[in-house]
Amino acid sequence: MVQYVSATKIIAACYFIRIFAIHNIELNPKGEIKNIMNTKEAANIRLAIIEKIETLKKNVETFKRLSQPVPPDNAIGRITRMEAINSKSMNEAALVKSTKTLDKLHRCLKKINDPDFGYCINCEEPIPHKRLLIMPETPFCVKCAQNINPR
Ligand SMILES: [Zn+2]
Repeated sequence: MVQYVSATKIIAACYFIRIFAIHNIELNPKGEIKNIMNTKEAANIRLAIIEKIETLKKNVETFKRLSQPVPPDNAIGRITRMEAINSKSMNEAALVKSTKTLDKLHRCLKKINDPDFGYCINCEEPIPHKRLLIMPETPFCVKCAQNINPR
C-alpha cells in the first residue's frame, strides 16, 4: 500500500514536470508559476547584451580619450580652449553614463537565466521581448519606467 501511494505520487510528479516543461513554466522563488522566456528569446537577448557591451566598451575608450586635460591657452587659443573644455565636460558625462550602463549589462548577463529575469521589478509584469532586445539592462516595463522617470 505504501509503495503504491508513492508510485502514484511519482507518476503525478512526472506528469506535472512534463506539463511545466512543455509550456515553459517555472516556479519563481516565491513558489508562483511564471512563464519563462523560451530559449531562443533568451539566446537573442544574450546576443543583444554582448553586442551592446562591445559597442559600449569602444565608446568608453573614445570618451576616455576625449576627456583628457585640455592644453593651456597659448597652445590652442582662447576660444578653441573654451570649446575644448565644454566638450571635455560633455565627454566626461558621457563616459560616466556609458560606464554605468556597461556595469548594468555585465550584471544583467549574469542574471539572464534567473527565473525573475525579464520581469519588471516594480509591477512584476513581463517586460516585452522587443524592449529587452533594445534595452536589456532595464529592470522596468515601459509603463513603470515612465512613471519612475517622467520626461
Ligand atoms: Zn512595470
